[in-house]
Amino acid sequence: AQRRDGAEGAAEEDAADPRGFAGLPGQRDLALIRAAGEALGLENPFFRPHEGVAGARTRIGGRDYLNFASYNYLGLNGDPRVAAAAKAAIDRHGVSASASRLVSGERPVHAALEAALAANYGTEACLAFVSGHATNVTVIGHLLGPRDLIVHDAAIHNSCLEGARLSGARRVAFPHNDWAAAERALAAERRGARRALLLIEGHYSMDGDVPDLARFAAVARRHEAWLMVDEAHALGVLGATGRGVFEQCGVDPSEVDIWMGTLSKTLSACGGYIAGRRALVDYLRHSAPGFVYSVGLAPPLAAAALESLAILRAEPERVRRLQANATLFRDLARARGLDVGRSAGMGIVPVIVGSSVGAARLSAALFARGINVQPILFPAVPEASARLRFFLSAEHTEAEIREAVQATAAALAESGPAELPE
Ligand code: PMP
Repeated sequence: AQRRDGAEGAAEEDAADPRGFAGLPGQRDLALIRAAGEALGLENPFFRPHEGVAGARTRIGGRDYLNFASYNYLGLNGDPRVAAAAKAAIDRHGVSASASRLVSGERPVHAALEAALAANYGTEACLAFVSGHATNVTVIGHLLGPRDLIVHDAAIHNSCLEGARLSGARRVAFPHNDWAAAERALAAERRGARRALLLIEGHYSMDGDVPDLARFAAVARRHEAWLMVDEAHALGVLGATGRGVFEQCGVDPSEVDIWMGTLSKTLSACGGYIAGRRALVDYLRHSAPGFVYSVGLAPPLAAAALESLAILRAEPERVRRLQANATLFRDLARARGLDVGRSAGMGIVPVIVGSSVGAARLSAALFARGINVQPILFPAVPEASARLRFFLSAEHTEAEIREAVQATAAALAESGPAELPE
């Protein structure tokens, strides 16, 4: 197979060369993973170019696949109304905002998108950033400082961890979804800190499970900590109408101080946002480095996200279809004896294989059968919980879900022992 990711790059360089790149941390692991893939005769499952819109179905290398590897949860990326909104914004404003919004990158679509997102959470205000990842890095890194405390779920996304590191705050991880452990951490450490942040996600992307938001909100309140919830995989996925984890858990959204989300998943664009009280948003608008010193969100992306949000509001049946599909997938998989971990059956269902080699093999076997699903390997997850991760879509049919589960169970049963060959 053609190498598209510079696999030979590190091999050509001397790891001991101080001006080389081969000695960088992680290069050895990468080389080992590649060598293992080659020894097993597995094609690299990453960086495969998709030839059209990647939704419930996709086209790769001239062949059609059933696709379980896209965050296009509600099928809005590819919806002609979303594409038309983006094209109209290009016709009006061009592709780029061409400057930071603070100086001359502000366009009317920015405020319209922010008002619609604020309305989703019933918050006073919202601010949109150019990337979801950058939103967490810059906002967490900016709001907290060395005299502060960040108590976070052990499974929190890399962007949150990067922001926490940047802040210089003391960091304490608690076991996944364990609000009582979060409470103990705050009880032990809160008094020594000026400000504290309790940081969780609304819907965890590795396991597809959901936190007990009411419990976390009570913990944050009791210990005078801000509660921040990353809704990347929750908006449009959780709750009867897709408003997110607060709707799912029946919690007043004002219990959360900092709502964070991305525009890249359900909203079929690219970018991130923070929704909350005016004092928070106004502060970030004037001082968050990743906002002030970065270009404004591209107008077609803002317009696409705004249109996606309008469709989400008008067509909540998409959310019900997504949830029904995920629940069906999870329950069928369970009935076949597959290990779906803690999935809530809302949009993400892992199939835990138990070894990186086994997960890579299973992914390759399914790809050969016309099903695209990504393996999650060590070190992204512990080796014993290496898995395939299925992202469901509102646009999958029942027959497609049955086919995928059946194929997964069959391929797993057929695959040999998960050891590397001698
Ligand atoms: N937070 C979480 C929980 C995510 O899963 C992701 C991306 N997968 C991000 C933030 C970053 O968002 P984006 O990809 O839109 O930059």
